[in-house]
Amino acid sequence: MGAISAVLLSQLRQGDAAVLPSDGYQLLPALIERLAGYGVTVRTAPTGEDAQLAALEALGDGTKLLWLETPSNPGLDVCDIRRLADAAHARGALVAVDNTLATPLGQRPLELGADFAVASGTKALTGHGDVLLGYVTCRDPRLAAEVRAWRKTVGAIPGPMEAWLAHRSLATLQLRVDRQAATAVALAEALRDRPEITGLRHPGLPTDPSHRVAAGQMRGGRFGCVVSFTLPDKEHAERFLTALRLVDDATSFGGVRSTAERRGRWGGDAVPEGFIRFSVGAEDAEDLISDVLRALDAASGTDAPTGTDPASGAASTGAGG
Ligand SMILES: *Cc1c(COP(=O)(O)O)cnc(C)c1O
Repeated sequence: MGAISAVLLSQLRQGDAAVLPSDGYQLLPALIERLAGYGVTVRTAPTGEDAQLAALEALGDGTKLLWLETPSNPGLDVCDIRRLADAAHARGALVAVDNTLATPLGQRPLELGADFAVASGTKALTGHGDVLLGYVTCRDPRLAAEVRAWRKTVGAIPGPMEAWLAHRSLATLQLRVDRQAATAVALAEALRDRPEITGLRHPGLPTDPSHRVAAGQMRGGRFGCVVSFTLPDKEHAERFLTALRLVDDATSFGGVRSTAERRGRWGGDAVPEGFIRFSVGAEDAEDLISDVLRALDAASGTDAPTGTDPASGAASTGAGG
């Protein structure tokens, strides 16, 4: 949030206008409220070119900044960065992309035309759930100087321990991102035919509504480690989370240990009560998928007695034992 604030608050002044996503990270609305208090006009639109272009259009030529988050957290919608950046630049607006979910290995917003790439390093970039960190990158040295000046004034500067933890993590970034992205696709595929699941989303699934645009701008088959889906209701979702053995019921995402949460518990996202945001970790894919399928069976009351569960792969992995 320090990195996001450094871009928004170093760039926007009283009387400026900006377009931000209505379905972005859950603290964006609080920041938008503050911007409004400072006299900035903000229009919000859901992630996706049509609505975002319409919002740009509606604000007219005075628009200073277009903020994108793609894939969006937690809905996993995707927008075409190049197309939106071209439209914004034609109106004289700068473009910033929150690249948290993709990581720089999965998507390079500056190469797609953005002026700023911003991300939380708390998630997949550092990947161990042990550091709070964020960063901003930009091409234009003048913009970089403005962000630095803001950072210095406000003091959102990482300590040496945080910097050291992040640096340690970069050595395994590609290993983690590749493994977690591949397992996320495998998990999404395993969930496709579950009757109790609706709204299954992962940009790497060929049938996902985001896949076409995601495949055109994301890199190396790295569509992120988050899979989202909806269970019938709050109680069903809670039974599922309790039944998981390899997966912690915890927020955040991108860590080497899988986590899942009922996103509605925070109240900040427009999601159904049974909505699960699942972050795929670096565990053995077969272990993880059999744990998830077993927990789904348990939550539906259809689980087989211990030892005869076909999803446990004849106990060869030891995961269900
Ligand atoms: C988590 C997250 C943030 C905020 O990151 P912090 O490091 O917790 O401040 C911002 N944007 C997105 C998309 C996120 O997932």
